[in-house]
Amino acid sequence: MSPPDFFYSPNAYALGIVEQRQIICQCCEEARALCYTGNFYCTDDVDILCPLCIADGRAAAKYNGSFVSDFEGLNPGPNGLGAPMSPSSMEQVSSRTPGYASWQGSVWLGHCGEACIFLGYVGSKELVPIWAEVRDDAVASGWGEDAIQYQMHKDGDMTGYLFQCPRCAKHRLHVDAN
Ligand SMILES: [Zn+2]
Ligand SMILES: [Zn+2]
Repeated sequence: MSPPDFFYSPNAYALGIVEQRQIICQCCEEARALCYTGNFYCTDDVDILCPLCIADGRAAAKYNGSFVSDFEGLNPGPNGLGAPMSPSSMEQVSSRTPGYASWQGSVWLGHCGEACIFLGYVGSKELVPIWAEVRDDAVASGWGEDAIQYQMHKDGDMTGYLFQCPRCAKHRLHVDAN
């Protein structure tokens, strides 16, 4: 099989969100060489999914599940951030896009009325070239601007999740900690 591409998670393979592993997919019951390693939020016990069953929406439909635990703005935080996202972009993210690994549950950001593209996990170092773009998000996160700008490590107890708007290319940042 040729692995499906994911518009909203273009680095899913490079990031290990989908990894090489010989499995029997619970959803399609086929032998596959790729396995999803992220969370799947549903009431059934579903651990072993192939990327094809994510890409075509089969897994989400079969188990009435979602690959993201929350969308920004659906449950606005104290800062009230978050613009409404188009239902079609939210559906594609929740039903046909691999989620990302997170401490407290994955939150998917939006911009320009659409769900953003998840680029990957970042620390302070990775944010240097785009700090001006993500500073507002860092402040609003409540984890402390200085901590995020200077002390955050990609693999540390505090992690940044970098997104990019598919329309205007602005970077956005979600931060979560252990
Ligand atoms: Zn499958
Ligand atoms: Zn935008």
